[in-house]
Amino acid sequence: MDKTDILVIGAGPAGLSAASYAARAGYSVTAIDQLSPGGQLLLIDEIENYPGLPLTKGYKLAEDMENQAVLFGAKVEYTALSAIRKEGEGRFIALTDSGEIEAKAVIIATGADHRHLGVKGEEENQGKGVSYCATCDGPFFKGKDVVVVGGGDTALTDAIYLSKIAKSVTVVHRRNEFRAQKALQDRLSSCANIRTKLSCNVIEILSDGKKVVGAKLDTGETLDADAVFVFVGIVPNSSLFSGFVDLDKNGFIITNGRMETSLEGVFAAGDVRTTPFRQVATAAADGAIAAHSADEYISNL
Ligand code: NAP
Repeated sequence: MDKTDILVIGAGPAGLSAASYAARAGYSVTAIDQLSPGGQLLLIDEIENYPGLPLTKGYKLAEDMENQAVLFGAKVEYTALSAIRKEGEGRFIALTDSGEIEAKAVIIATGADHRHLGVKGEEENQGKGVSYCATCDGPFFKGKDVVVVGGGDTALTDAIYLSKIAKSVTVVHRRNEFRAQKALQDRLSSCANIRTKLSCNVIEILSDGKKVVGAKLDTGETLDADAVFVFVGIVPNSSLFSGFVDLDKNGFIITNGRMETSLEGVFAAGDVRTTPFRQVATAAADGAIAAHSADEYISNL
């Protein structure tokens, strides 16, 4: 069985920041992720609001964060967690694809995934024009008409990104005002090829049998489109931790300001936890606090 002082589950900005801080403080740290390190950073084209980096690429920031954690001595491993249990104070056992890991403290930083719309035509047209990732799939729709669904930061950021590739972008949002930050709303309205359809819902994604051809709205209108990008929020990756630590009604892990969960020795950081603002900067800050709290927990064992 592998042994480590601190096990970090998830290697996005929160997990990599926690791994860096904990390793730099002298602890042995193993950070595991079932995907490439970086989390949602890998889905973001450009980031302009990470302090100190006026403009950078998502994948580049992910790479830099991983390299920094490794430089401080953290181990970053590709493996999936299947179960975790507490055997006693300062003794946690995690079961992964590559075996068991014993840790003195655990930091959960598993992030969140895309919420689906749940309308007809959505599931069957994934990969045929229905997408949840603008940077991954946007380039396939160069010069085409695309629909973006949602009104938060992701929808507007990605609509602006898509407007540089597609011929036209129609943003469909269920309310009459956007939830996104004002700066993004201003940028959106200055894009000549973006139009908005407010106070309406996509009720069906239409296909010709091979690919997406449009979206049907609850107003009765049909939008012709080659792709429908769905950005309607996130669902926390917390199902493995249900019963292990307390979750809120939406499945986010409940923490206090020290990133402590309901179970001593277990901390949570980033998008998976209850937090009013989900940014790369706040995830990284959560990770630093979680590492500090794990340090205190281990020191007091
Ligand atoms: P979000 O803020 O939760 O917004 C989700 C949007 O989808 C809302 O406008 C919501 O409508 C709409 N929606 C939810 N369920 C829907 C449904 N079933 N049908 C139609 N519309 C639906 O999610 P997000 O935009 O993915 O952002 C997640 C977090 O990441 C946020 O904390 C955000 O600030 C952060 N983020 C930040 C940046 C940045 O700073 N550059 C970029 C991306 C994301 P209502 O408004 O009516 O609820």
